Amino acid sequence: MLVKEVAKLDAEQVLNTYWDGNFPVDVNGIAKKMGVEVFDSILASDISGYIVKRPGEPAEIHVATDHVPTRKRFTVAHELGHFVERTTRAGDDDFGYVEKRGGKRTLQEFYADEFAGHVLMPQKDVEKMGREGKKPFEMAKAFGVSLDAMMVRLRRLHADA
Ligand SMILES: [Zn+2]
Repeated sequence: MLVKEVAKLDAEQVLNTYWDGNFPVDVNGIAKKMGVEVFDSILASDISGYIVKRPGEPAEIHVATDHVPTRKRFTVAHELGHFVERTTRAGDDDFGYVEKRGGKRTLQEFYADEFAGHVLMPQKDVEKMGREGKKPFEMAKAFGVSLDAMMVRLRRLHADA
């Protein structure tokens, strides 16, 4: 299976299990239900967030406290992607990722971005809004994401069609 297909499958499973069906998708609430703690933290200016998991301890996600809410939400969803990939796919209990500006585009980062897109902007709801003639900025508002993130998501979905 392709990485993007795995990410989609994993994200849909998380939504099915932990999401209450309301928009914007409550990623912090989902993280909490998954046993992951989320903190607003003062981070270096080139870091948007990180996740750390120590053996036998709950995972912690830290997001840059001075970032706008839409960006924080994407960062939490992205880190949750790392959490799901490492814990369910790799069975790992000890890992960490730091999101640094200009960081390397590895398969793990690609997976985490795809996962975040699917969790924050579920495909069937994006498609439904599309059929209703909603504009990208209206969709972005409904999903609680930046217009940039919405445009990327629409392009990715279009590329899959
Ligand atoms: Zn990452």
